[in-house]
Amino acid sequence: MEETDGQTLDFSNTELAFSHKSDRELKKTYWLFRFMNQPAMVRIGNVLGNFAARFPLRLFDPLIKETIFYQFCGGTSLLECQHVVDRLYTKRALTILDFGVEAKDTEDDFNRTLEESLRALEFAASNPNVPGISTKLTGYVPTVVLEKLHAGEVLSAHEQIAWERFEERFVSLCNKAQELGVSLFVDAEESWIQDPIDRLVDKYMPFYNKEKPIVYNTYQLYRKGRLEYLKNGYEKAEAEQFILGAKLVRGAYMEKERQRAKEKGYEDPILPNKEATDRQYDDCVRFCVEHCDRVSLVNSTHNSASTKLQTELMAARNLPNDHPHLNFSQLLGMSDNLTFNLAHHGYCVAKYVPYGPVREVMPYLTRRATENTSITGDMSRELKLLHTEMVRRGLLKA
Ligand SMILES: Cc1cc2nc3c(=O)[nH]c(=O)nc-3n(C[C@H](O)[C@H](O)[C@H](O)COP(=O)(O)OP(=O)(O)OC[C@H]3O[C@@H](n4cnc5c(N)ncnc54)[C@H](O)[C@@H]3O)c2cc1C
Repeated sequence: MEETDGQTLDFSNTELAFSHKSDRELKKTYWLFRFMNQPAMVRIGNVLGNFAARFPLRLFDPLIKETIFYQFCGGTSLLECQHVVDRLYTKRALTILDFGVEAKDTEDDFNRTLEESLRALEFAASNPNVPGISTKLTGYVPTVVLEKLHAGEVLSAHEQIAWERFEERFVSLCNKAQELGVSLFVDAEESWIQDPIDRLVDKYMPFYNKEKPIVYNTYQLYRKGRLEYLKNGYEKAEAEQFILGAKLVRGAYMEKERQRAKEKGYEDPILPNKEATDRQYDDCVRFCVEHCDRVSLVNSTHNSASTKLQTELMAARNLPNDHPHLNFSQLLGMSDNLTFNLAHHGYCVAKYVPYGPVREVMPYLTRRATENTSITGDMSRELKLLHTEMVRRGLLKA
């Protein structure tokens, strides 16, 4: 492990970033990202993926597994993820497990999600390299209930019961997380269902985070006004003496958000441009580092400037690289140049490792494919890095 002052970190070091990949694995990843770089291919892939997810075909699962699945997912079950957890730790990167279900409908589904998440917490507790699990609350409650609460509508008696059951499920998750000392990261979802999620997490965080950060909420910084929301959370944490668990992301649903706002004629909740999002993101990183005695930050990004910013702020304040409240995270299969360079220099960094049946993780895989598509015709960020490493190893001509 190399000590660094934040100035000497080199995220363009692809040798370190891809040292866990054999030449064969590197080539396979390179060709996958080349494929995803083409918008037409991704569009076709998404249509086929959605079709096959709805009308199960025998060939579908093996095909997805052979191509995109293992690039971005740990496996179909917890057990299958173990070797990914171990492999990441050979490079000192930790794992946050993410059972990939989203937007479920029935009580049976909600209970199954809960059971799986409780199992994941147990798995994490028995595994020193898994400090936490993440979860989407739409896996535990009908989305329509969240939508109505967000809009300030009155719930029917039936919906009220669904909400109460949801709250019970959430509390049992938090109780288990606290009992086992494992962190629980609540993902942020679409803005039109987010208020009740925020209220629920805000309600319980003071109780569970007295001694250490157990419950984390996610702040989507492409949304207007989220720096203020973070600051309010901090003030509450100060007043009530708990640790604010803050996972920062830019946000994954921009196009959907803009389209819905346009269709329904309300103000676009997303900041007007990328620069404004970057500014708000970096302001939040600054705020969290400045208040790291009271805020536990997980800087969850593939953006090297926002990552570097945190390392520089830490160095300027003489904070140790392994400060337990100053964490980083990337998604499995993305930005290995950040993860493994940070880990090499002793920072607390984890990969988000989604897992679950292939069909359940299709929406997640679709988002990853879309994110890696080039609209301008240039190479995507990931593809550029892979290309550099392929050339460095002599597997490709410059
Ligand atoms: C560990 C981890 C956990 C995550 N968890 C969640 C989660 O719970 N919820 C969630 O929504 N997302 C989550 N994401 C995804 C995240 O929100 C981003 O979609 C993704 O990481 C890309 O953003 P970036 O910061 O890595 O990099 P960048 O490439 O620098 O930023 C791309 C992002 O900038 C924003 N953006 C781009 N263009 C514009 C524009 N014109 N105007 C305004 N904003 C713009 C968008 O948010 C876009 O996704 C997670 C990501 C990671 C790494």
